[in-house]
Amino acid sequence: MTTAPQTNPVERILMGPGPSTVPHRILRALSAPTLGHLDPQYLEIMDETCAMLRQVFRTQNPLTFPVSGTGMAGMECVATNLLEPGDEAIVCINGVFGTRMKDVMERCGATVHAIEAAWGDTFTHEQLAAALDAHPRAKLLGIVHAETSTGALQPLEGLSALCREKGALLVVDAVTSLGGHELRVDDWGIDAIYSGTQKCLSCPPGLAPVSFGERALAAMDARKTKPQSWYLDVSMLRKYYTGGSGGGGRVYHHTAPINMTYALREALAIVLEEGLEARIERHRQMHLRLRAGLESLGLAYIPKHSLHPLNCIHAPAGKDEAALRKSLLTDYGIEIGGGLGPMAGKALRIGLMGHTATTRNVDLLLAALRSLLA
Ligand SMILES: *Cc1c(COP(=O)(O)O)cnc(C)c1O
Repeated sequence: MTTAPQTNPVERILMGPGPSTVPHRILRALSAPTLGHLDPQYLEIMDETCAMLRQVFRTQNPLTFPVSGTGMAGMECVATNLLEPGDEAIVCINGVFGTRMKDVMERCGATVHAIEAAWGDTFTHEQLAAALDAHPRAKLLGIVHAETSTGALQPLEGLSALCREKGALLVVDAVTSLGGHELRVDDWGIDAIYSGTQKCLSCPPGLAPVSFGERALAAMDARKTKPQSWYLDVSMLRKYYTGGSGGGGRVYHHTAPINMTYALREALAIVLEEGLEARIERHRQMHLRLRAGLESLGLAYIPKHSLHPLNCIHAPAGKDEAALRKSLLTDYGIEIGGGLGPMAGKALRIGLMGHTATTRNVDLLLAALRSLLA
């Protein structure tokens, strides 16, 4: 006779590149009774969720909703709806997620012009303007706001003016910045944006908030071909999430992930109760506290412009960084991340995302590191 494996993992403190620690309030919301996806109660919850997403994205875009799937589904959704074979795009690559964006956009049939910066660096507006000049047919410019693989923060203000001048859409990956860094979709003129739930929103992974502005909608309407993905086709999804253009009823497309919507709604309520400004400031304060502690241990940051929710440092010299991470996990129950790509084995990535970004966690990690490095 076999016994079913038990699902009661030991709790961890999630200080890696995501997921972050999920508040119990959100886990409780997940366990509410499952409703039908056309139940009026559920539609109200979905509408509230979309309204709160608009507040957190700081946008009025009617087409703002959670795509079913993780952050990568958000990336695929934006790419597949905005690009078709024959299109050109510019993608800014300074880490893993820019690299993936190029791959995803090429799979949509677009010719992608990559502009590159060293891992850990960011792009200047001069570099971006030169790329837009060099590729006047580019339909969009894709850029990562918070490059989780290197910990670098890309300034976005002023970029939309450059894009608009050249007729290109501004597409932004905000998976790690939403709810953790200042992000203003309307003020910054972002045309399409995607995020994820398990980083600074501290919700379990499973939904990808997206938002499309008017210029992105016009580009979708002007397509000659259908998006390659049926599942992520916004022209159909919007009939469910926004009730159709003329307000004419909801149309079944796929079964919405009902309980995940409860979780996201609760996560967004927590963000708005704290207040976006206060939350962003808390991430800043916790980053500064961690930075001071790490530097006093002789540990230096890799990027010049560090993210607050993700701290990427050089691995301690003469130490096996994988063994260090393993001791943190087994002895202290703390998860942190290692380096990716060219930084594998050479970097540590410490997340201070959402619910994880507390004085208690920062000081606990510093005490653990102090003891393990002694
Ligand atoms: C985590 C992450 C993604 C991918 O999200 P998943 O939820 O893992 O699919 C994309 N972009 C960035 C910047 C990320 O940090």
